Amino acid sequence: MATKADYYELLGVSRNATEEEIKKAYRKAALRYHPDRNPGDKAAEEKFKELSEAYQVLSDPEKRAQYDRYGHAAFEQGGAGFNGFDFTGNFEDIFGDIFGDFFGVGGRSRRRAQRGEDLSYNLEISFEEAAFGTEKTISVPRTIVCEVCHGSGAKPGTAPKTCATCRGTGQVRFQQGFFTVARTCSRCGGHGQVITDPCPTCRGTGTVRKASTLQVKIPAGVDTGARLKLRGEGEVGPAGGVPGDLYVLIRVREHPLFERQHNDVVCEIPISFPQAALGTEIEVPTLEGKIKMKIPPGTQSGNVFRLRGKGIPDLRGGGRGDQLVRVVVEVPRKLTARQRELLEEFARLDGEEDVHPMTKSFFDKVKELFG
Ligand SMILES: [Zn+2]
Ligand SMILES: [Zn+2]
Repeated sequence: MATKADYYELLGVSRNATEEEIKKAYRKAALRYHPDRNPGDKAAEEKFKELSEAYQVLSDPEKRAQYDRYGHAAFEQGGAGFNGFDFTGNFEDIFGDIFGDFFGVGGRSRRRAQRGEDLSYNLEISFEEAAFGTEKTISVPRTIVCEVCHGSGAKPGTAPKTCATCRGTGQVRFQQGFFTVARTCSRCGGHGQVITDPCPTCRGTGTVRKASTLQVKIPAGVDTGARLKLRGEGEVGPAGGVPGDLYVLIRVREHPLFERQHNDVVCEIPISFPQAALGTEIEVPTLEGKIKMKIPPGTQSGNVFRLRGKGIPDLRGGGRGDQLVRVVVEVPRKLTARQRELLEEFARLDGEEDVHPMTKSFFDKVKELFG
């Protein structure tokens, strides 16, 4: 009997290599010598066989311990040797996820249930709805579990039958050269079951497209760009997988009067020159209707008045913002003859400097600079 190569040397690992190192080394070598990559190459096939045998032993702690103690003799008694090894298990285990389909090896022994896709929905709401929160009914087209067959795909009253080709395992095993490979069963697509009487509603797929009506609670204080997550309201997963999530993307419509600054509501209100000079009381629109606000005498254009607590509630419960009222003094564009007369008279009386402190300070500075 020819002397067999040392398993550790074959895989190119040290005698105290970890399981992971052994697996890695085998994967690398096996890829190179795999018969599918070296068709008709007897030497490569022989090498692959040796590598696989070495891996079978060294990847199993018990066998590895025996090998470390007795060497090849541990497996030669009783005519065990190569024929005693089962190649399918480890082969799938190690190759399944890397290139299952490349070699036609059933890494996916059964079609795995996958999580469904996430969906997103654009929702436009009004300024007031964003401020105070609301509940919206939306209609989302999505894939859901067929309500007629409850996802089985079989016509009600019938049941899927165990696939005769793979006997329900979802895999077909066959001999290729010296080792057994497993392929996904083509008859049942790996499900292990076949539907002989498909559900007429979903045509056997178990899922249907349907516009689902959902209630969405919009919290007070949301703003454009907010994303609400509705867990499990996305597409249903294939093969009974959990559904994905639904993301509702908020867009807040512009308001004709209000603008938002964080949690404050800003609005601009025009007043007349006499109102600004004499002081007055004006009506200010707020999120909750009109309220009265005092304008003190001598108010300047651009002055901002703060209405506490009239803004937008904080999304995270941090209280309410304010309303900021910016006053704009409007100069009349047209005057009647009488108005002109009065204004001209006003201008003549307006010579006293202390009624216009801003103007006085401005001209003082100009005098300082230019003489
Ligand atoms: Zn159905
Ligand atoms: Zn099958």
